[in-house]
Amino acid sequence: MDKTQRSAPASSSGRIEQRIEIGDTVNELYAAPCDRCGSHLAYKLIRTSGASLSVFAISEEDCRNLDAYVTKLHASFKVDVVTKLVCLQDLIQELNSNGYFEAPGMHPARVRLIDRARLICNRLSKNGVLRRFFDEADNDEDDITAAFLLGCLATEVFWLRFPEDAVFEGYAHIEGRKAGRPLARAARRTPDLSHSRRICAIHLRI
Ligand SMILES: [Zn+2]
Repeated sequence: MDKTQRSAPASSSGRIEQRIEIGDTVNELYAAPCDRCGSHLAYKLIRTSGASLSVFAISEEDCRNLDAYVTKLHASFKVDVVTKLVCLQDLIQELNSNGYFEAPGMHPARVRLIDRARLICNRLSKNGVLRRFFDEADNDEDDITAAFLLGCLATEVFWLRFPEDAVFEGYAHIEGRKAGRPLARAARRTPDLSHSRRICAIHLRI
């Protein structure tokens, strides 16, 4: 582990509790009231590296042993399969809340994308395969879960290889607007561009 920084535990929600850097990855622990029931704290570990962002819902026990959790995570380089699936399922459910697909204002291509995902989810849910992605989220020894992982990794590599600069420029726009400064320049001066990404991530309902 190259570098470990500890922030004083924050009592308010959605604040960074702890930050651990390993090589070019930054791992940050957030605690916020559970998005589903609001009756307890939920912990999220957000791993960033360049434009790559992964979110892992972690237990209280893992929070207490965060060094060990992050070391293990870094060694396995686990993919946040569960977060990605939950995010997709939540969106599908949201758009079908009235019993039929409803997405006013959404671009047709996006509707088709989500609806195709919905049909695949339905099929894989019926034959029990979907459950395996949750239960064995990072198993690359199993052909089915490994195929899913490969899809996630290929998408990640695509984004890092081609539009990473554009992604950063986009965040720079957001940061610049928020700060009321010229956009790109503001972001270039700020070494940590991950604020907006983290804000997006901590609002994920996981
Ligand atoms: Zn809850």
